[in-house]
Amino acid sequence: YDFDKYILVVEDLYKYFGGIRAVDGVSLRVPRRSIIGLIGPNGSGKTTLFNVVAGLYKPDKGRIIFDGVDIAGRKPHEIYKLGLIRTFQNPRLWTSLTVFENVLGAAENRKGENIAGALFQRLWEGQERKLAGEALDWIDFVELSSVDHMLPLNISGGQMKLAELARALMARAKLLLLDEPSAGVNPTLARRIFEGIERLRSEYGLTFLIIEHRLEILFDFVDYVYVMHRGKIVAEGKPEEVAENPVVLDIYLGG
Ligand code: ADP
Repeated sequence: YDFDKYILVVEDLYKYFGGIRAVDGVSLRVPRRSIIGLIGPNGSGKTTLFNVVAGLYKPDKGRIIFDGVDIAGRKPHEIYKLGLIRTFQNPRLWTSLTVFENVLGAAENRKGENIAGALFQRLWEGQERKLAGEALDWIDFVELSSVDHMLPLNISGGQMKLAELARALMARAKLLLLDEPSAGVNPTLARRIFEGIERLRSEYGLTFLIIEHRLEILFDFVDYVYVMHRGKIVAEGKPEEVAENPVVLDIYLGG
């Protein structure tokens, strides 16, 4: 493979749960600086695929090459440190820390500094000042400046998603696996989230693989789409091709 071209190559990947073939021989490629959609009906294996790629589950078989390194079976934090970062449908934030502290804490991914420890002790010195500025810049980027002093409990679900995205950016993500970035978010904010994704690609060179059920929004932003059904990739192509593919219409209508 041309690893200069592809930041992620998944090859013949399998993950069974007992008799359930959640991921059943999946191969896909994600070019650098691309925005790729991963769609399919409920239970088709999308989340399991994300979890295997991010290291939460070990694959039964297959290769996962991220940035030229085979990461199959590696621990989640190792994969995270390499810059492959997965976000969750229900964002995972530190509940006792403010939005700002949550974002700043993600800098811990870099150089192995114990930022979180320093935060809990409220220790503030020079190095942190620079990181703090960077955290504020990412918070500004995701338009959360007005709530940066608030606890996750007191912001909206959409804002939590944006805070989680800012954490990933602070952690120097190269490839983001986004699990339904627009779920539970109003259409205007959903579009703003995707516009932010587009800017992160064009201005920062980031790459995205996105699970999304709202195809009418997703298809306006992605370069290419993979369609899963019963653990397999059953169709792929440009959004306009996938939208007209009879196989895709059939699985969405017929189940
Ligand atoms: P999707 O994200 O497309 O909705 P999932 O990956 O969540 O699909 O699920 C694919 C299949 O794997 C489903 O049949 C689901 O019930 C099963 N599955 C997912 N996670 C587990 C698990 N931890 N244990 C057992 N079965 C699971």
